[in-house]
Amino acid sequence: MSKYLDERYSSLAAYVPGEQPQDKKYIKLNTNESPYSPSKATLDAVNVGETELLRLYPDPDGKILTKKLADYYGVESKNVFLANGSDDILNFAFMAYCANGRKSYFADITYGFYSVFANLHNSDYTVIPLEEDFSIDAEKFCGVDGCVFIANPNAPTGLALSLSDVEKIVKSNPHNVVVIDEAYVDFGAESAVKLVDKYENLLVVQTFSKSRSMAGARLGFAIGNEEIIGDLHKLRYSTNPYNINRLTLAAGAATIDSQDYYDSNCKIIMETRAFVKEELEKLGFFVLPSKANFIFASSEDIDGGELYLKIKDKGVLIRHFTTERIKNFNRITIGTPEEMQIFIDKVKEILEEN
Ligand code: PMP
Repeated sequence: MSKYLDERYSSLAAYVPGEQPQDKKYIKLNTNESPYSPSKATLDAVNVGETELLRLYPDPDGKILTKKLADYYGVESKNVFLANGSDDILNFAFMAYCANGRKSYFADITYGFYSVFANLHNSDYTVIPLEEDFSIDAEKFCGVDGCVFIANPNAPTGLALSLSDVEKIVKSNPHNVVVIDEAYVDFGAESAVKLVDKYENLLVVQTFSKSRSMAGARLGFAIGNEEIIGDLHKLRYSTNPYNINRLTLAAGAATIDSQDYYDSNCKIIMETRAFVKEELEKLGFFVLPSKANFIFASSEDIDGGELYLKIKDKGVLIRHFTTERIKNFNRITIGTPEEMQIFIDKVKEILEEN
């Protein structure tokens, strides 16, 4: 840290992303990416012609992709906001609705970036503990006096709230924006997009990084009331109007055109998830019922941190968090059936070696 850094950032604890190691090839089950390649249509869209156009700025409004998403989700273009990954949108939401002492609320065990953004924007934030079983008690998020952030399904637990619980929270906070972060919704949870028409304070955030195999392209989107979307555009135009590059816009549009391919990948991932849960349970693990493309598991036979290190040594990367409440767990992304069979075999080996 230099002596020039503004004092208010000097104590900021930055977000620590999952490892992206370049030293050797791992079976990578640590950052919830899709194990499947983008569709042929998506790959074809990133072609020489499009690459030649890189000399020109992209459309700052991403009109083609915005319209495709609006049609796909049954809303209008004015209800759709695009950004450089959904992290970009969460940042704008904290900036717009929670900065400079304004209040925000999120769970103790949830996406780690919420507290980073809250600190970055100097939000007066309150952490609401999850229940003993890691579920969210919707009542505790009702009628609060600030903006609410809920990951649904939650990360890293994978547990999902019902749409009626989400609606209860949105309805009970009419004076504050409620952000439902649906990064993992396509793996079996219920989306709140259908509530956007009914509630002007609801902002639903999604991403192309997980179910749509585009983590490396950085593309997120939000759906909400026209005025909220307008707030986000204002902040985007005040920071970086060209925040989504031309190749990503083209890839995103082709992705929506080949949605069937992505839907079938999600189906395979959900089936693989059921297989992995069953296999881990046979080995004595406790596995939360996940609606995401990962599972969250612990064992009384091996410490979470130890399993993470030992399996890394055997070429499989999973995610371990040191937070007290979840330090015995690991979050394991669902890869291909072949990758997950190797994962299970390595877990068996480690338990036997112990
Ligand atoms: N929300 C949640 C709950 C996540 O786990 C992630 C992925 N780390 C994101 C948002 C951000 O995803 P992206 O910026 O790749 O869209």
